Amino acid sequence: MINTGNTVLQGDGVLSSCTKRQGHCGYACCKFSEGNWIMLLPGEYELAAKQNLKLDHLSFENNSHAVCHVPCQKGDLKPIDCSWYPLFPANLEATKFLVADHRKCPIPNHELIDKMWSVYTSVLAWEQKHQGSLEQIVGLSRDFVGYMPFPYKIENGLVVDMTMQDLEDIGLPIELPKDYVCKEWTVISLGYSATITPDDEK
Ligand code: SF4
Ligand code: SF4
Repeated sequence: MINTGNTVLQGDGVLSSCTKRQGHCGYACCKFSEGNWIMLLPGEYELAAKQNLKLDHLSFENNSHAVCHVPCQKGDLKPIDCSWYPLFPANLEATKFLVADHRKCPIPNHELIDKMWSVYTSVLAWEQKHQGSLEQIVGLSRDFVGYMPFPYKIENGLVVDMTMQDLEDIGLPIELPKDYVCKEWTVISLGYSATITPDDEK
C-alpha cells in the first residue's frame, strides 16, 4: 500500500517493486481469508502500545499472532512482518529467507535482493535488543503457508545462490496446492508459478 501504517522502527518497508504491482495483486498480502496471519516479534506489541500506535485494525490471538481487518493508515501499527513481506527470515543467522509464493505476490526474486539486506539488518538489530527473537521467529515460521525458499542467501557479506541442500533445509512442510489461484488478484495472468514470475531473469 502507498498510504500505510508505521512500524515500531518508524519505517514502512514500502518498495517500488510492490507499488507498481498493486493493481495486479489486489493487495493479496493484506487479505486474510486463507488462514494466513501476521507474526508479531517478541516485544513488538508492547512497544507499539508504548508508542501509541493504533491497533484497532488488527485482532490478536496472542502477542505473536494477529490478523488485519482493514487497511492500516498513518498512525496505525504496521507490524514488522508486513514491512518485510514478501520475505521472512528462515534461519538463526538470518542469512536465508522464505519468499511468498509468486502466485500470491508477483514481485520477482531479483527485485527483492535489497529487501533481503534490509530484513537481515533489522532482524539482527531486533535480536540484539530482544535475545531469543530469531529462535522464536524461525520456529513459528515453520507453520507458514504460502511461502517458498528464497533462492538467494547472504554468505561472507555477499549475495550468493542457495544450494539444493539449502533450499531443502528451509522448505516448509505445507505448500499451496499445485492448482492454486489467488482470488484477490485483479488480473488473471499466465507465467506465474510458486517460484517464478514472467519478470524473472531468464
Ligand atoms: S502481494 Fe506483493 S506486490 Fe502485492 S501488495 Fe503485497 S507485497 Fe506488494
Ligand atoms: S497491517 Fe494490515 S493493511 Fe497494514 S500492511 Fe499489514 S496486513 Fe496490510
